[in-house]
Amino acid sequence: LARLRRRLAGSDSPLSRGLLALISRDRIDEDTWEAFEEVLITSDLGVGPTTELVDALRSRLRVDGVSDPARAREILREELVRLVDPTLDRAVRADRGDTPAVIMVVGVNGTGKTTTVGKLARVLVAEDKDVVLGAVDTFRAAAADQLATWGDRVGVPTVRGAEGADPASVAYQAVKVGIEQEVDVVLVDTAGRLHTKTGLMDELGKVKRVIERQAPVGEVLLVLDATTGQNGLTQARIFRDVVDVTGIVLTKLDGSAKGGIVVQVQRELGVPVKLVGLGEGVDDLAPFDAEVFVDALLD
Ligand code: GDP
Repeated sequence: LARLRRRLAGSDSPLSRGLLALISRDRIDEDTWEAFEEVLITSDLGVGPTTELVDALRSRLRVDGVSDPARAREILREELVRLVDPTLDRAVRADRGDTPAVIMVVGVNGTGKTTTVGKLARVLVAEDKDVVLGAVDTFRAAAADQLATWGDRVGVPTVRGAEGADPASVAYQAVKVGIEQEVDVVLVDTAGRLHTKTGLMDELGKVKRVIERQAPVGEVLLVLDATTGQNGLTQARIFRDVVDVTGIVLTKLDGSAKGGIVVQVQRELGVPVKLVGLGEGVDDLAPFDAEVFVDALLD
């Protein structure tokens, strides 16, 4: 947690500065509130959540007659945590039943899908789980190579098909191997070419259906790149229409991005952010924690 905090910490965020500007005046006028709202919106918090937050802050600051910056910051923190929602169940479902737990990882190419699969495999192996990877992106040979490299690094086998093979048949094969070898988890890395929405829908839908002939898919994790801001929201909407997403992985939070998109994306999809990517290394994946996240936003 300390590492996450340190990595996310910029010096003195615009949010904290905005808040300070608010309460350092004798009288908070409309212009000041508007300026603060703008800070929130440019932090990718979204218009709806921003309005909610400002309304809550206004009434709480007024009712309590708050003039102490530390107290105001505490209130802002509480309201932000409430927006991010600490009550959501963020556990990744990776326990096998009669068949291996199947986790599909989806997202646009370049967001960090394959890297996330590798890191997640590492986490599961550290929990003493047997894991098989499925390289379902048969469109690019390099994609399967990259996944297999991760498999070698983490010490788990990768099932792959010939270049141009039917993605669903490779997914089927990966789950078949998982069942035969009685592994705990099959992690399926999918293709993320946004050629056309129907193309993607057909492909991911078929992959999922074919897998489910053998074992239920317990998780569909959508990978979003935190540095792309509102773009992440657009991608989330597309994938929501294509496949039933059960959780979000927000990558590249080690950069300058603060990930203000979290609240909007969670609301849009009705599913929680479960994991965050904090770098390119094998151990750079962490569970999402609402409190730690908000502290980083405010740092
Ligand atoms: P994919 O096309 O979605 O499978 O994306 P990749 O897994 O190939 O990742 C694309 C690039 O993003 C690679 O250079 C990764 O090393 C990098 N990457 C992935 N996750 C993270 C992260 O959490 N932080 C940083 N800094 N880079 C990441």
